[in-house]
Amino acid sequence: MKMSKLFVQTLREFPSDAEVISHKMLARAGYIRKLTSGVYNYLPLMWRVLRKVETIVRDEMDKAGAQELLMPFVQPKELWVESGRWEAYGKELMRLKDRHNREMCLGPTHEEIITAIARDGLKSYKQMPVNLYQIQSKFRDEVRPRFGLLRGREFIMKDAYSFGTSQEELEKEYQNMWQAYTNIFNRCGLDTKAVQSDSGAIGGSVSHEFMVITDTDAGENDVFYCECDYAANSNHAVSNLPEALVDGKDYFKTTEIIDTPNTHSIEELSEFLNIPSTIILKSLVYIVDKNPVIALIRADKTVEETKLLNAVGGMEIRIATSPEIEEIMQNHGFNAVPGFIGPKGFKDITIIADNTVKDMKNFVVGINQTDKHLVGANLSDLELDEIKYEDIRLVEAGEFCPQCGKPLKVTRGIEVGNIFQLGTKYSKPMNAVYLDTDGKAKPYIMGCYGIGISRTAAAAVEAHHDEWGIKWPLSIAPYHVIIVPVSTKDETQMSVATDIYEKLLSAGVEAVLDDRDERPGVKFKDADLIGFPFRITVGKTIQEGNVEFVTRENGEKIAIKPEEAIDKVITAVKNIK
Ligand code: ATP
Ligand code: MG
Repeated sequence: MKMSKLFVQTLREFPSDAEVISHKMLARAGYIRKLTSGVYNYLPLMWRVLRKVETIVRDEMDKAGAQELLMPFVQPKELWVESGRWEAYGKELMRLKDRHNREMCLGPTHEEIITAIARDGLKSYKQMPVNLYQIQSKFRDEVRPRFGLLRGREFIMKDAYSFGTSQEELEKEYQNMWQAYTNIFNRCGLDTKAVQSDSGAIGGSVSHEFMVITDTDAGENDVFYCECDYAANSNHAVSNLPEALVDGKDYFKTTEIIDTPNTHSIEELSEFLNIPSTIILKSLVYIVDKNPVIALIRADKTVEETKLLNAVGGMEIRIATSPEIEEIMQNHGFNAVPGFIGPKGFKDITIIADNTVKDMKNFVVGINQTDKHLVGANLSDLELDEIKYEDIRLVEAGEFCPQCGKPLKVTRGIEVGNIFQLGTKYSKPMNAVYLDTDGKAKPYIMGCYGIGISRTAAAAVEAHHDEWGIKWPLSIAPYHVIIVPVSTKDETQMSVATDIYEKLLSAGVEAVLDDRDERPGVKFKDADLIGFPFRITVGKTIQEGNVEFVTRENGEKIAIKPEEAIDKVITAVKNIK
């Protein structure tokens, strides 16, 4: 490809709406253009990268024994009603109607469709196990589309679904996919960590996410990990607490309601009473699918919303606003301001207590009276009909690993893929069954396995760049090498550059010749920004028979003969795994 013909427009500046590096770089280097919120055009350079990621994914999936197919992007409502997700999925599901008023949706994922395909054709245990996958665009009307390709509304995903007859078979396929994913991300030049995670809207029990560890804002997940192999997303991580339990009896001799003026927050309350927050019971109000839920937790700890959502069994969760809390209190006969809420006296409302509450003694708690708290309280004083204990606590670094007891560490991660053991979550409600060895109809035991193709490419930019631009891993770079004649008017330079270019092309290397009549500074800047793994510069030193060979990854520059430069590139390309 000649640079003068390459369809690419680099920008002088980063686009103003881009918050993270990969979005900034990919837009500025001419890989993507935003069409509308969360929807991007993949321009020729981007499409080459995406196709390379796809090729690696296909290769490893095929090697792992999976078979590719392609399911439609538009899906009928009926199958979603069968699975129960037409109601449950929430606003991320983009719903539409055709001219006959039939309801449809844009596929955010394809469990329903693949389960229907299996139900049609997978009738006997003899046909299993089987793993089917596709690479397809998905649409999710994300609340906050942001970060460019990392969280788009339309994006490309590889999704695979396995069908088997037993839990053992599922676990075997899960391991098989785990290995395939490890290979895929290695080949894409990405270091990933497999972490335990919550299963979310997809459902099922066991699941792992493959995270690219990053210390930038682009890492939307907190990952807690340990020297041993424990690693978990914050929505799933558990820990043992290092600190000893504090008994409030050293502070309060009797159980009584006392005045605590203007103590709206935990800090104000612990300061006013001169007590540690570990003997305060914090009451928080959440709205889960429109219903109020009271969450109780020891006040020095934080509620993890996904854990709470799972404990309640809902789809959407958010913290209640002050007016909502006031209204809820009024509905239960209380006339207090929100900072003084407590569980006592609430009837017919879901109350979930974190496990930390179980052992609290002689604590301080809101009593639904403004400027007052109950002190020296114990759980029996709260007269709760029913209290459900769950782990709804957000883990913090330094707390102890549930596996080995050492202090946990925290880092941020970008989820590029995940694997789920679904079990019969879809096959049961959709009555998707096969005939087993005993002649009985049984639901398939399923697994599902996703990789964000477009997110993986963007994550590679997060992991590989410097202030000047992208440093693509050779395996997924749009082109392997750029050849830059310093002066296109210099005949020798141009003929050597063209010769190198042609030799590389005929050896199967993906090369670009920068034939533009531009200042060398401009050409070098573009080369760095776009992120060619190698640059061969043909300048004045060609008089001594040398070209400059630059490796983008480490910035190394060496003077070598054109033939050596050609060899180096060919060898590197041959060694791509
Ligand atoms: P997240 O928690 O980041 O929203 P998810 O749990 O919703 O991800 P899955 O439904 O399991 O993701 O989808 C499989 C893969 O698809 C993810 O691992 C991720 O790589 C990719 N993916 C999911 N949502 C998006 C998105 N909005 N934009 C780009 N890629 C996405
Ligand atoms: Mg999501």
